[in-house]
This record gives sequence, C-alpha cells and structure tokens, in this order.
Amino acid sequence: MIDFELTSEQQLLIDTTRAFVMREMIPHEETLERTGKTPPELAKKLKQRSIELGLHACNLPEDVGGGGLDAVSVTLIEKELGRTSLALAECAHRPMNLLAACEGPQIEHFLEPTLKGEKRDCIAMTEPGAGSDLRGMQCRAVRDGDEWIINGTKHFISQAEVSDYCVLFAASGEEQSNSPATRKRISAFLVDFSDAGVEVLPGYNNVSHRGYPNNILRFDNVRLPGWRLMGEEGAGFELVNQWLGPTRLTVAATCVARAERAYDIALNYAAEREQFGQKIGRFQGVSFPLADMAVEIRLANLLLLNTAWRIDQGTVTPGDCAMAKLYCSEMLARTSDQCIQTVGGMGVMEDMALERIWRDARIERIWDGTSEIQRHIISRELLRPLGC
Ligand SMILES: Cc1cc2nc3c(=O)[nH]c(=O)nc-3n(C[C@H](O)[C@H](O)[C@H](O)COP(=O)(O)OP(=O)(O)OC[C@H]3O[C@@H](n4cnc5c(N)ncnc54)[C@H](O)[C@@H]3O)c2cc1C
Repeated sequence: MIDFELTSEQQLLIDTTRAFVMREMIPHEETLERTGKTPPELAKKLKQRSIELGLHACNLPEDVGGGGLDAVSVTLIEKELGRTSLALAECAHRPMNLLAACEGPQIEHFLEPTLKGEKRDCIAMTEPGAGSDLRGMQCRAVRDGDEWIINGTKHFISQAEVSDYCVLFAASGEEQSNSPATRKRISAFLVDFSDAGVEVLPGYNNVSHRGYPNNILRFDNVRLPGWRLMGEEGAGFELVNQWLGPTRLTVAATCVARAERAYDIALNYAAEREQFGQKIGRFQGVSFPLADMAVEIRLANLLLLNTAWRIDQGTVTPGDCAMAKLYCSEMLARTSDQCIQTVGGMGVMEDMALERIWRDARIERIWDGTSEIQRHIISRELLRPLGC
C-alpha cells in the first residue's frame, strides 16, 4: 500500500515555512523586483529568523551540526521557500551539503561559522570556457611544498559578493583517458575571499532573479595552506556529484512552487474575468489549458516527492534527480507562459507576480546542468546497461 500522507512533523514544517514566506518575505518582493537589490538589513533579519525557525542548515546532517532533516522534509521546505523570489528565499540560507565533507581545521574555520550563520558559502565551478564541460576548466591548482597555488577565473558565481568564501573547483592535473577531450583531474578547495590574490568582481545583469547577484572571481597566485584541500586531491568531481543531486531537487522544488503560484493567479483570473458577456473560464480555449496545467503540476509534485523519497531510501540515481529537474523546470516554463496567456495583457504587467515568475523560469533550464545535460544523464543511465 502506498501512503501519500505527510507526517505531522512534515506538515508543521510546511506551515511554519509558509507563514515565514507569506508574512516576512512576500511583502518585500515588489521592492526587490523594482530596485534589483536585497537590502543587507533585510537579508540579515531574514537569516536570523531562519536560524530561529530551524530552517537554516536544516539540510546538513546532525552529526556535523546541521538540522539533520530527511530529504522529503528538506524538499517540502525548499518548495515553500520557492513560492517567493529567489533573492528573498536565499536569505534563509541553506549552506551547501558538501560542507559536511569538511575535516580538521576546515571545520572550525568554515563549517562551524557557516552553520551559525556567521559566514556564508558559495560554489565556484563554472568558467567562461567551461560550463557544461566542467572537466575542461582552465583554473589550475599547483602544489608547492605543503601549499597550493591557484590561478584562474570563474564566472556566473551566484551570491559571491555577499559570501565570505567559496568552494572552488580547480584542475590539479590530467587523467589518462581514451576520450578525445582532455579530462582534467578536479580538486576542491576552500578559498576565503580575504585570501591574498582573490578578487570578487561584478557579474552580469540577467533576465531572471533580480536581487540575486552573480559575480566573476579572479584568482591570481592565491597561496593556500594544504589543509584547504577538501577530501583527496583529484576527488573534486565526487564532491560535485554529491552536491548536484540534492541541488537539482531544490531547483525542481522551487519550480513546482512557482508553477502553483502562477496557476492560482491564472485560475482565479479565469473565474472572474468576463469577455463576450461571460467568464473567460467558460471558453474551452481557456479552461482546457487550465486542466492540462493542473495535470502537469500534480505530476511534477509526485515526481519531486518520489525523488526525495528515493534519496531517503538510499536508492536514488543521478538520472532520478535529472528527471525531476528536467521535468519540473520545463513544466514551469510551459506553465508560466500559459498562465500569462490565460490572463492576457495584464499578465505581462509588473502589477502581477506572473511576469516575474515567467522571467525567473528561464534560468531554471540552464543552471545546475542544462536540460540537454539532464537528458544526457537520463539517457546514459537507460542505455549503458544495454551496452550502448
Ligand atoms: C545566473 C547564473 C548563476 C549561476 N550560478 C553558478 C554558481 O553559483 N556556481 C557555478 O559554478 N556555476 C553557476 N552557474 C553556471 C551554470 O551552471 C552554467 O551556466 C550551466 O552549467 C551551463 O553552462 P554554460 O552557460 O557555459 O553553457 P554551455 O555549457 O556552453 O552550453 C551551451 C549550450 O550547449 C549545450 N550543450 C553543451 N554540452 C552539451 C552536450 N554534451 N550535449 C548536448 N548539449 C550540450 C547546452 O545544453 C546549452 O544549450 C550559473 C549560471 C547562471 C546563468
């Protein structure tokens, strides 16, 4: 028998997070959208509230000092936070799960202050010449005695200007392989933005997620003590993969939340708005897309929670997380576009949240692995066992 009931603890997490989002975040949405800036005092206040509510670091295991929640519970929280704009939701920061791999002095210098909300992390993988093809990265880490010397540039790094440090992925050698492309050996390092030779530069303005900056990072002969290496030399890719699954599920959760929010606006509008002497919801041209969207949103919810449940069962595969990210992000693109169509001209006006949801949706099919890369992961999992 399959039980779709949430536990009372999970329902409480939903109610708590939803109240936080509705009362303390959504009222600031409009200002953030119009100014493109998240006021630092507001960000600080929301982070403090998130700590008080037990949301901050809820995703990290208890044995390293996190909230130790199961993946289904974390996904339900991410979905609630996803109802508002990313800039606001990110104030209730959930540090990257890969920080659980911190060891020795890394714990005191990076993990512990991050769990307490005193330091903020970000992740630096992408480069101008290496997006989907991470192993093509040019940023290099060269060993010099007990130290490492880092040189290179990263771009599109979210929130770097409001962070204190990054987990940096750099090439520390090359692997022997038969592939035509050079496969770099990737290592992960904890780089403090106060380290000599690190520059955090302004990034690009983009269509999605106002108030959520991205930055360019430059590393010019940055000297790191040996203990800043995370895990083994060359094991950076395993760390990336540990991070990517839950991160892709977070993207999927926020996509479902935004689709639900857009849908509620469109459904209510169709039930109220009159043209040709009747409610527009009575025209099949309007009501049938509403039916189709309801089906897609329900499917997305099922896929989302089933994937989270598989993480908790220890049976999840990269293809499972890729499916959730692919379907939910593409579903949001279709839904946000159709919801605007349902509303008509008012749908593209800044007076409604619809235009923001539609703009924000664009990036979800690109970051944390494009839709094409998700299809590659899914199809590889299906075909490889057949020898293809
Ligand atoms: C606003 C923003 C914030 C971001 N934040 C971060 C961050 O915090 N940290 C970080 O490290 N990165 C970050 N990223 C980077 C993001 O993950 C990359 O943009 C993404 O992985 C795609 O890389 P790319 O943009 O270089 O595109 P490319 O890899 O150049 O892809 C271009 C096109 O080619 C297609 N393509 C490439 N390879 C294949 C293939 N093998 N098969 C089929 N199609 C293929 C892609 O699907 C895409 O359509 C961010 C990006 C943006 C836009």
